[in-house]
Amino acid sequence: MNTSHSAPPLLEVRALKKHFPVRKGWLGRATGRVHAVDGVSLQVGRGETLSLVGESGCGKSTVGRAILRLFDLTAGEVLIDGQRIDQLPETRLRPLRQKFQVVFQDPFASLNPRMTVRSILAEPVRNFEPSLSAAACEARVLELLDLVRLPRDTADRLPHEFSGGQRQRICIARALASRPQLIICDEAVSALDVSVKAQIVNLLQDLQAELGIGLLFISHDLAIVEHMTHRVAVMYLGRIVEQGTARQVFAAPRHPYTQALLSAAPGSGGTRKRIVLKGDVPSPLDPPPGCHFHTRCPYAFARCRTEAPMLSDKADGQWAACHLDSLNDATAST
Ligand code: SF4
Repeated sequence: MNTSHSAPPLLEVRALKKHFPVRKGWLGRATGRVHAVDGVSLQVGRGETLSLVGESGCGKSTVGRAILRLFDLTAGEVLIDGQRIDQLPETRLRPLRQKFQVVFQDPFASLNPRMTVRSILAEPVRNFEPSLSAAACEARVLELLDLVRLPRDTADRLPHEFSGGQRQRICIARALASRPQLIICDEAVSALDVSVKAQIVNLLQDLQAELGIGLLFISHDLAIVEHMTHRVAVMYLGRIVEQGTARQVFAAPRHPYTQALLSAAPGSGGTRKRIVLKGDVPSPLDPPPGCHFHTRCPYAFARCRTEAPMLSDKADGQWAACHLDSLNDATAST
């Protein structure tokens, strides 16, 4: 985390909760609540990448969508550049949307198949810079193609004429059109082949170096994250269970869940002993009391079943939510 200056972080999420009501019957009565996100706090600095990782259904994409204000929050705050945006009406939010953009998983679904790349990119350029002349708008479109390393002569093509990786480059170019300070990448490389994934990740890193943008990289793929992120936050069943620098988390994970995830990640750590977790992730409709992970944790003890552990600093800014002081204690006592 960049704390060397007093400016507010680019993105700050404070104690975010999002519970979705579950409705049944023709009257649509609420019969329960899905605890998709249950008190998540995080920060992203300028020019920094924070990766939010966890298994499918852990709530990481809901965090991204909450920041984008795709729905109202149950509780908590979202601040962009020090300004709260979670309660702003859309009219006041619109000018701020310029600062943060998103790239989703499926580039084909998010591009209009009947629009040329030129039109796809010109639309947001005109929206965010309405005073630009036609020539200046065209120059900006070509500049965006340069930024994502697509040839300028592809501007007249339609989305179906590109490969999956090239389409994701178009989505990134569109996200860059508003000159954002933050890009939320929601499983942005998950649908791509391994070699193409690496190319898109390299492109994002280059863009970050060139433009100083912050990235919130939401992914279930730990192997991809390891070499491209500054910091990592690991989510399990709606809560962050560990946060630290990439080096800290990948070299010495402090939470039993992170340990298990890393032991199963191909190419990550290499020599780690595989930890196979018992059972499935419990339903967010009825999360277990205490530590959400206690039903699967190999080190769980009585306190874990009743008391939710808070995130605490385990070593040099590496935070974990676990009642054990260290995994070494746990290993010694089993
Ligand atoms: Fe395991 Fe208990 Fe730590 Fe949760 S608090 S991770 S159940 S040891």
